Order: sequence, then structure tokens, then C-alpha cells
Amino acid sequence: MAPRRNITISRRLRATIARGRPPCHLCGEPINYDLPHTDPMSFELDHIVPLARGGADHISNAAASHRACNRTKGDRTDGGPILRRSGSLARPQ
Ligand SMILES: [Zn+2]
Repeated sequence: MAPRRNITISRRLRATIARGRPPCHLCGEPINYDLPHTDPMSFELDHIVPLARGGADHISNAAASHRACNRTKGDRTDGGPILRRSGSLARPQ
């Protein structure tokens, strides 16, 4: 049975990371944290080791990224970006 990601943990992680307003760890550019989450340049929590590859849903495995950067990475590394983010994107803050 595949482990299900914990939405509550992910949302808390998002808030924790966003509080420091770090730049995107993938491209190094600043992130506008006020953009709506539908914007490609908005903040998205990135798992450094994707959950699909055994990465932890934990602050030590989390970093800030642009949505577009994370999409590109996700497409390449875990093969399941739509499934992976289906729980977090649909929820209003
Ligand atoms: Zn970026």
C-alpha cells in the first residue's frame, strides 16, 4: 500500500518555509510570495528528494521554489507531478 502524503504537514511546511521568504532554490531568483498560487512564478514548496522517491515530508527536505521551476523539476524526476500536487493545489489558503 502506497503511503499517502499528509496534507496538514505539507501546509505547515509551506507556511514555515514561506515565513523566511527565501529565493527559489532551483533558479536562485527571488519569489513574490503575494502572487496567487495559479501564477507560474508563485511560491511552491519543493521537496528536495521527491516524495515519490522516498523523500520525507519534513523541513529538512523542503525548500522554496517557483511553481514553474518545480514543475520542470517534477516532470523530470518523479514522473507524477499531477498526482503529487493534487492535494495541495486545490485548497484555498
Ligand atoms: Zn525558480
